[in-house]
Amino acid sequence: MKITVIGAGYVGLVSGVCFSELGHEVICVDHIEAKVDMLNRGEVPIYEPGLQALIKANRERGRLRFSTDLRASVQPSDIIIIAVGTPSLPSGQANLSFIEQAAQEIGQAMNGYKIIVTKSTVPVGTNERIRDIVAKCTNVPFDIASVPEFLREGTAVQDTMNPDRIVIGTDSPSAGQQLTTLHQSLTSNIIVTDIRSAEMIKYASNAFLATKISFINEIANICEKVGADVTKVAYGMGFDQRIGASFLKAGIGYGGSCFPKDTQALIQIAGQMDYDFKLLKSVVEVNRQQRYNVIRKLVSLLGQLTGKTIGIWGLAFKPETDDVRDSPAYEIIAALSDMGAVVKAYDPIAADNFRHHCDVSGLIYCENAREAAWQSDALCILTEWEEFRQIPLSDIESWLKSPYLIDGRNIYEEEQLAETQLVYYSVGRPGMN
Ligand code: NAD
Repeated sequence: MKITVIGAGYVGLVSGVCFSELGHEVICVDHIEAKVDMLNRGEVPIYEPGLQALIKANRERGRLRFSTDLRASVQPSDIIIIAVGTPSLPSGQANLSFIEQAAQEIGQAMNGYKIIVTKSTVPVGTNERIRDIVAKCTNVPFDIASVPEFLREGTAVQDTMNPDRIVIGTDSPSAGQQLTTLHQSLTSNIIVTDIRSAEMIKYASNAFLATKISFINEIANICEKVGADVTKVAYGMGFDQRIGASFLKAGIGYGGSCFPKDTQALIQIAGQMDYDFKLLKSVVEVNRQQRYNVIRKLVSLLGQLTGKTIGIWGLAFKPETDDVRDSPAYEIIAALSDMGAVVKAYDPIAADNFRHHCDVSGLIYCENAREAAWQSDALCILTEWEEFRQIPLSDIESWLKSPYLIDGRNIYEEEQLAETQLVYYSVGRPGMN
């Protein structure tokens, strides 16, 4: 098939590249010229394991192209995939301006029947709005479909090639059939449903995962008070198939470009229908508070933080990505800086993005993990990069000025700590303090 993907970000670029890997002819369009230029030079604007090799291979096969020209890219294709951003407005509602602009431009470029697919996460009713916008621009027939994306950054290629399920929301049986054919080599779990249910499946899924995280974080906070170990509790819970073992890892809470904005958007969607989504509001509030436990622990150990040097390991919202959107590290570092601490930070991949997108005055960027820990009054681990796990605790102990290690991601085990004099605080494991 001939496919055009609009928006060459984490979702659009990975999806487009994977469709080309499956043998389709793909054009990825982005309105940021610098991004398209990079891609055309063979460089990849985001960090995503495995992506660069697939881009190289499929460009060489002539199946993958990049362009800023939306009109010229839409016209030769049968399937147009919208994968532009839907960031939060200050109200928490999804900002649909990129979606609306893309729909208008597609409408103006229409030269024959096409299926217009939305992969972006959009509120219920948005695909119908896209249909109205396109229909105002053209008399050419077309169908619309909502095919929400479930990939995770850091494993995006793997997730796209091996999805748990594909959801296709459409009111056109023939579009449903074509999209089923497009995805059938990836999974047998293809759910064809109505458009509104497909839009809702995406929000409900992310809200549920966020709920699991906030739930286990509250259990962790109680564990700290009653002397239980949350990792053992989660392990014991996870065997129950009704619960499942994933997303039961206590820590400093979720971040990233999806869960924070999608939970807020769903609260707004409900509110517009006069429904007060109390559970999800609590999930968001628990998550917001969870990151401040790092600060509370630092204060309990060091007292006033003015003039104290705090080392930070990890800026990305999770490992194996350079994405820093809504990373818990940002709020923690900003709070430390406001409290007068000197903050030194290191991240293996995300430091450049953090520098560009997160404005924290006085933050010192370090070249390596040692430099961030060196002579610090405490070290905080905020992202569980594999590189950090490989560093012997005896090294950390010798680098620090005071032996305080705050592990926001529970990366160390009791046996490792037994051989050190480190004063160690993790999340929900009071026996290890
Ligand atoms: P992103 O910001 O990384 O990429 C969006 C891209 O769209 C940008 O490069 C931007 O320049 C481009 N763009 C915007 N308007 C355009 C237009 N009119 N023409 C051409 N290009 C345009 O965003 P993302 O992280 O890829 O997310 C995209 C959507 O997918 C969002 O709705 C998001 O919620 C959803 N989603 C994201 C993830 C994820 O892990 N990032 C996972 C699932 C779903």
